[in-house]
Amino acid sequence: MNAMIHSSEDDLVFLDEPEASDISVATKPQKTWRIMIIDDDPDVHSATTFALGSLEIQHRALSFLHAYSAAEARDILQQETDIAIILLDVVMEQEDAGLQLVSHIRKTLGLSDVRIILRTGQPGYAPEIDAIRDYDINDYKTKSELTRTKLYTAVTSAIRSYEQICAISASHRGLEQIINASTELMALQGLQNFASGVLVQISGLLGLDAEGLVCARQGNLEQGADLQDLRIIAATPAFAGLLDQNLDQLPQAAVIERVQRSLQERRNLYEAQTTTLYFSNVAQRDFTVYLDTGLQLGEMDKRLLEVFCSNISVGLDNVMLASRLHNYAFYDPLTGLSNRLKLLQTLNETLQSPLKQQSTLSLIDIDHFAETNDALGHQFGDMLLCSVADRLVAYFGADCQLARVGSDTFALLGDEEMVCPEAILGLFTRPFEVDRQEVQLSATIGLVQLADYDGQGSEALKDTNIALKRAKAHQRAGHVYFTRDMGVEIRERVRLMHALRAAFENQRLFLVFQPQIDMASGRPVGAEALLRWKTDDGKFVPPDQFIPIAEYSGLIVDIGEWVLRTACYELVHLRSLGYTDFQMAINVSQAQFSHPLFMQSLHRALQDTQVPPECIELEITESMAMKDPDLLIKTLYQIKQLGISISIDDFGTGFSSLSYLQKLDVDRLKIDRAFVNEIKDASSDASIAKMVIQLGQNLGLSVIAEGVESEMQAQTLRSFGCHLAQGYLFAKPMTREDLHAWLAHSMPN
Ligand code: C2E
Ligand code: CA
Ligand code: CA
Repeated sequence: MNAMIHSSEDDLVFLDEPEASDISVATKPQKTWRIMIIDDDPDVHSATTFALGSLEIQHRALSFLHAYSAAEARDILQQETDIAIILLDVVMEQEDAGLQLVSHIRKTLGLSDVRIILRTGQPGYAPEIDAIRDYDINDYKTKSELTRTKLYTAVTSAIRSYEQICAISASHRGLEQIINASTELMALQGLQNFASGVLVQISGLLGLDAEGLVCARQGNLEQGADLQDLRIIAATPAFAGLLDQNLDQLPQAAVIERVQRSLQERRNLYEAQTTTLYFSNVAQRDFTVYLDTGLQLGEMDKRLLEVFCSNISVGLDNVMLASRLHNYAFYDPLTGLSNRLKLLQTLNETLQSPLKQQSTLSLIDIDHFAETNDALGHQFGDMLLCSVADRLVAYFGADCQLARVGSDTFALLGDEEMVCPEAILGLFTRPFEVDRQEVQLSATIGLVQLADYDGQGSEALKDTNIALKRAKAHQRAGHVYFTRDMGVEIRERVRLMHALRAAFENQRLFLVFQPQIDMASGRPVGAEALLRWKTDDGKFVPPDQFIPIAEYSGLIVDIGEWVLRTACYELVHLRSLGYTDFQMAINVSQAQFSHPLFMQSLHRALQDTQVPPECIELEITESMAMKDPDLLIKTLYQIKQLGISISIDDFGTGFSSLSYLQKLDVDRLKIDRAFVNEIKDASSDASIAKMVIQLGQNLGLSVIAEGVESEMQAQTLRSFGCHLAQGYLFAKPMTREDLHAWLAHSMPN
């Protein structure tokens, strides 16, 4: 910021932080290392200054410059000089604000000395290796990685590097060459390429045609580790035959001795004919470069090499870091297989190539893996997955793309001849061995043939998943190929779900009522409320279609509450018309019933409508009883306490044990329409209907038959002792207005 002179009269002069030129000691060497923090989060500024404030490096304290946006940083950098380090947030105004700023610093402002440490809050948002290379970035860390100690280390090593660069910046040759050399090196992927690059660059730097080799210690670095651990990872032609061998294979004992000494003493050795450079703890390894220089290096060359080495250490760390980030992004750490992202990449490539015509994608899901995991522990589960992965790789690995896309789900992409149910399921016939124990597993698979597939990779994967779900619902250890119909069906369901939500919000749902009759007297005793959906173009969507969608989308909770209240209001209205001896039956589905707020909404409906609870009957299905017996028993008890009665709908279609039925304490059984339907003539099989009626009598429960369509059925039911019925024979479901008219006619007050 500029100094600002307020007014000459009151002599108020505001001066911001004195700049070097403002103070008399400007000509003295700078006393502090200047560190610029660029971050849009003020907390990061304070945390950083707090962490580093008291630090002294090479007897100099640190001082800080602050910028809170890339734009502000540009302004400051225009005026400031001698900044040693920039701690830079990658993501600020825009996702790439940080990297653009780096480009501005290096390219537009031409500042090549300042060291840059990138930081990001999001681990996933890593700069490309290209950016690290192109802009000579010292370090890259996620903010969570930057603990106080790590921050010290990063800043200390960056300052050292900066100091060395400054120290020889007089020597143009050195500086430029080093930067160029490091830049070239960064372009090389992988450790071995990098190591060979180091040899080439050092020779170039020294202007020599030196032969040499690079050794890396394998495994952890323990002091005095033996020769076995030293591997030759790069070599010039004179040593080329020994590449990838252990150092002890080398015939020249003198070379072995120097490499060992450099490692042991952890320093560079400059000798009459040779130079051995030591790089400490780079990517968790020690590494040495041995060179036949043929002469003793001069002071200038040594300094050059030292700067080069410190730059290289950081660079190499970055190479390792970038490949680690790459690994995290594309590979599954447990099995080493590709992950979902990598699979999608390959899948998209396949879909664009002629290979697509004969390729199949398959998802392989281990059956009951969660149970195995729970029973035997996660560690065992992990080993089991690895052993499945190994077997898949052994069989398919060479020809197909394998990935782990879910905890116990693998994906396989390859030629349709190979990727077929027989081959895949065949691998599961033998047990897997884990921890010297045999475990027999089975798998269920879904497949998609990619020929004629016109979607994206992600859609193909989704469709495979649809096929897998089908297969699982069908039968474990089986397989299902995706067909277009499945996709259409699912999309249709999704469309219906949106339409249903809109219909409910726009009050396009309404209730109809189907009377229930006492066949002995012929009088209506109540009605069942049934939900209707009339679409904008006047068509009815049958409840058998939309109720399941409402259930699985959770919409049923709101819709069900509305049904409950509307039916109660209608009953109150009927009572006001004089039909006081009349019951309302209301359907309640599983999702509604197990909702934690169900009892509360039931209470509220009773309270708000003032309906007498004994006139309300809730219809639950038998299958509901099977899902969560304890919850059901508890809820039923609470409902009964309110005075509401319960009937079991569609009775006979699900299975419930008799003793369980007694525990449930229900009031009524509703014989399913299918069993009434079986009563076709006097001689037909009416045994189930008969049995249900007897069961009801034995348990002291009332029984109602639904779907009664003929006089003959009514008669048969009556002869069995069932006197309550509902069905087209008596009345179809009707709107409230029609019900009023119907009641007035059949039940004159
Ligand atoms: P449900 O509870 O078994 O309802 C009886 C169904 O049988 C109704 O079909 C009714 O119209 C039909 N029906 C009645 N008498 C006869 C007959 O003599 N012959 C024939 N062929 N059918 C007859 P609807 O209204 O299509 O309802 C179908 C299912 O949708 C219901 O079966 C119920 O499970 C569900 N449902 C309807 N409304 C609701 C509701 O408000 N909430 C919940 N959760 N489910 C509902
Ligand atoms: Ca019903
Ligand atoms: Ca029913």
